[in-house]
Amino acid sequence: MKRTTGQDRTKTRNWRPATRAIRGGTWRSEMGETSEALFLTSGFTYDDAATVAARFMGEDDGMTYSRLQNPTVQMLEERIALLEGAEACRTQASGMAAMTAALLCQLSAGDHMVSARAAFGSCRWLGDSLLPRFGVDVTVVDATDLSAWEAAIRPNTKVFFFETPANPTMDIADLAGIAEIARAHGITTVVDNAFCSPALQRPLEFGIDVVAYSATKLMDGQGRVLAGAVCGSEEFINDKLLPFQRNTGPNLSPFNAWVVLKGLETLDLRAKRQSENALKVGEFVAGRVPRILHPWLDSHPRQALAMKQMDACGPIFSFVLDGGRAQAHALLDALELIDISNNIGDSRSLMCHPASSTHHNMGPEGREAMGIGEGMLRINVGLEDPEDLIADLDQALTKAGL
Ligand SMILES: *Cc1c(COP(=O)(O)O)cnc(C)c1O
Repeated sequence: MKRTTGQDRTKTRNWRPATRAIRGGTWRSEMGETSEALFLTSGFTYDDAATVAARFMGEDDGMTYSRLQNPTVQMLEERIALLEGAEACRTQASGMAAMTAALLCQLSAGDHMVSARAAFGSCRWLGDSLLPRFGVDVTVVDATDLSAWEAAIRPNTKVFFFETPANPTMDIADLAGIAEIARAHGITTVVDNAFCSPALQRPLEFGIDVVAYSATKLMDGQGRVLAGAVCGSEEFINDKLLPFQRNTGPNLSPFNAWVVLKGLETLDLRAKRQSENALKVGEFVAGRVPRILHPWLDSHPRQALAMKQMDACGPIFSFVLDGGRAQAHALLDALELIDISNNIGDSRSLMCHPASSTHHNMGPEGREAMGIGEGMLRINVGLEDPEDLIADLDQALTKAGL
């Protein structure tokens, strides 16, 4: 196996994003394959016993076991790190494995974490249910309020954890502002960047320390595999994340890593086209519903901040109907082209009702505190022709009485 660009990483770091997405992290075997090879192997063999000893001592670079390293997985990790502008990256079996690893690898009993109120349901569960069981205190704040982050800090605060845009309220948190408060207090910031991917937003550029992904979303982008990734400094990945990951084993399978590698080749194209489509569809929906939560529309309270942080609006937005769950479900049931599905980042357009699906577990009070009403719907706009999507929404909105 050889890196196609040699060992000169400074060269690859000068590549522009579209080139990184296709060429980053490519290793070739002696077969000279064009597409990345799939190493579906759990273990590795050695020419002699001295080589095994050298590898386990860390004196020889080769691989030893796929929980520790795998060539296909390593190619994906190098490519994601390049796209993110991070020193290092490690991948996990799902987005939630990535979030769990990013938090548990650095928090201990007696520590305190501050996290955003509006978040993916399972991310909230980590802070509400899992971490407190291990003696980590968690304070939940409104992520859009900088003074709330500052006020929540205690002497033992170790981590700030949030996502932007937030699921499904499309709250936009100020990456640079929150990073600055954290830096001043020696707190590590962890951002879940699933809604954007590095094609649309790179939190490290705003001073964030660690970026965690559901690579299931835009990175695969074709609804095939679950995957996750954590990006950060070499120090964070090597000293904090790796000891946790290598001993607890939330690893990504080489097959799924290969699928995501193929997904990354078209990430830039898909993320940009889906954003263009989401803007067209959003403009249409805005004229028909009482309330829309879309970061690129003038009606969004944090439109200017969104435009500063994101290269495009991304594929996802939400809107709110006055007729509660009955009207929201009626609209979903009337769809003919767009699928009812709770996934996002997919090349297919998908729609869901968060209160009865992704955020069902939070209960009515939890949802109300997060701003998720019974009339809210969330859409992921795919790569179909936006005129067909608008026609489908047009007839479904009419059937739902709008
Ligand atoms: C989907 C999602 C996750 C979880 O990722 P999985 O790959 O499904 O485990 C976490 N955060 C956000 C914002 C998500 O959209």
